Formats: sequence, structure tokens, C-alpha cells
Amino acid sequence: MCGIVGAASQRNIYKILIEGLRRLEYRGYDSAGLSILDNAQVLQTRKTIGRVADLEKLTAQQSISGNTGISHTRWATHGEPSSINSHPHTSSGVSVVHNGIIENHDQLRAEVKALGYEILSATDTEVIAHLVHHQLKTHTDLRSAVEKTIAKLEGAYALGVISDTQPETVIGARSGSPLVIGLGIDENFIASDQMALRQVTDRFVFLEEGDLVEISSASYSIFDQSGSEVKRPIKQLDEKDLIAEKGQYRHFMQKEIFEQSTVLANTTAGRIAEDHIREAIFGYQAEALFAQTNNIHIVACGTSFHSGLVAKYWLEEHTGVPCQVEVASEYRYRTVPVPAGTLFVTISQSGE
Ligand code: GLU
Repeated sequence: MCGIVGAASQRNIYKILIEGLRRLEYRGYDSAGLSILDNAQVLQTRKTIGRVADLEKLTAQQSISGNTGISHTRWATHGEPSSINSHPHTSSGVSVVHNGIIENHDQLRAEVKALGYEILSATDTEVIAHLVHHQLKTHTDLRSAVEKTIAKLEGAYALGVISDTQPETVIGARSGSPLVIGLGIDENFIASDQMALRQVTDRFVFLEEGDLVEISSASYSIFDQSGSEVKRPIKQLDEKDLIAEKGQYRHFMQKEIFEQSTVLANTTAGRIAEDHIREAIFGYQAEALFAQTNNIHIVACGTSFHSGLVAKYWLEEHTGVPCQVEVASEYRYRTVPVPAGTLFVTISQSGE
């Protein structure tokens, strides 16, 4: 599940969308893209495989600016990492970014094809853009079109949606994948992680499961699963949250200990459904790789090494596949026999 940023403002939001993605880079991703409604209210989209810096290079050649937009870093689950598969996905004037996995995408693909839409990518996301476009034929407002669309989705998602039919609005929705609203002065934002918006605001509203939000530069409204308008608390991050982030805890170790349940919930959000692990959470072609795996090597240091030892017990117990855990700093100097069909798992800390 990768990164989403969205903005509705009275100024050019290009830099906010790019800086937001840069702040989410630590999560790992394979491609990046953005859509902006330009000053003539025409939808402009730029996307590329590679880094946020590559997206910036592309936008330096094909400049893009406007007051309403969405951006995304993708971690492929359906369809290889490529420019065409990267987000946003568009359908005429509608543009969509998505974190998560749409499990009934095959059925929805058939549905949108039957409606006459051409599908260009191999993603599970593109159908959402076509469905919203289709709904806009009968629902003039974007929020209702998104509401009708998400009623059809099975799986996990955080979404950002814009449309040239309502150029001052960004719609966000969350189910199984986090989404937060950032409140500014004469501008409002959405993001998959508050970290992406710290450059522009310290006031946040955390959406709950099933919430849908409509933002414009002047206002925001939240609707719960039943479609009723709801109020969610505004959280003002103070200087301590922003700089030290120790919060109410005496020291960082205490904070880490107390935050374990939240961190685990956030990590598994979108990856585990009520009663099953979502298909494709390990990324593009993972299933095919797992089918060929007869051995596992986990390579890690320190705490990650100890996590690896726990994983070895679980993997061997549940899969019967032999698993070996190695200290990374030694591994590079040893001659380790690596049988054919070995799955190599590296665990990094602090993004190193
Ligand atoms: N499942 C989508 C895709 O493969 C979104 C992946 C993500 O969360 O970045 O394009």
C-alpha cells in the first residue's frame, strides 16, 4: 500500500503534491504520478516508472500547474511496474489514485468493458476511474458518483478522485487503508499518511473505516458508511509532535512499546481481510514465485534478525518449507550454499 496526496487550494498545488510524495518515499514504491486540473479546468496527468525525482524531471519537460490535484506513489500488486500501470488512472475527465487491492477487479473489468470502456492498464485500479465516469452520466455530483462506485468495490482501498466536471473538489474514501485530511487556510488536503502534509499544516482529521470525504479549498465534509454527514475530531499536532514526536511518553522506547498495537494494526491494514490474507499483497508475480519456492533464506541484522528467527518457526510450521536465518553482516563474507528455488528475504531497518 503506497502513497496518496490530494490538494484543493487557491494556489498552484504542484509543489505540494510532489513534496508530499517525497515525504512518503521511505515506504518504498516503483512508480509515481499526478493529475492536476489546470487553470482551464482541463485534466493533465503525468506518470512514470521510477522515482519521484523522475516525475519531477518529466514535469520539468511537460509542465503542469493548477489548484486541484492528486498524486501517488505505486507499489504494484496487479500488473508490472510500468508507466502505463502507474497511477493516476483516468477515464476522460476523471482521475483516480488508489492504495490497496480491489479483489473483484476481474468482474468489474468485464462490467466496464460491456459499458464500452477501453482498459489500458493491467491494474485492479483502472476500473474505478471508468465506473466513476459512468456514474457521472447519471449523477451530476462527484461525491454521489464515487459513493455509487465504492458500493461495488470489494477489497481494501484508500482513494483520491478528481473530475473536470467539478474542478474545485477532491473526493477521498477509505476502507481498509488509511486516509487523513489536512486542514489549511483557504486550502485542504488528503493523504495516506499525515507525514506527507506536515509541510503545509499541523491540523489533521483522521478518517474512520468506510468514511468518504469531500474537500474544496474552502471546506470539507465527511460522510460515514451509511452516507450520513459526520464530524470527526480535529487533531492539532503541537511542536513536540512535529519535532520530537515523543508525545506523552517519557522516552522513545516507552513510546515504541505502547504503540505496538497501533503499528501492527496500521501495518496489516489493507493486507488482511476479516478472515483471509488478501491475494497479491506481496506484489506483482509473488504468487508464481511462491509456487517455485523450496527454500527460504532470511537475511537481517539485530532486531530484524530476531524477527527472522520467529518468522522461521512460523514459516516452517505453516508451509513445511525449510528456512534459514542469517546475520546480514556475516552473509556477505560467507560462501552460503543457495539451492535452486530459494526465496531470499531481506529485512531492513530504518529504510536502509
Ligand atoms: N493495486 C494497485 C496497483 O497495483 C495499487 C497498489 C498500491 O497500493 O500502490 O496498481
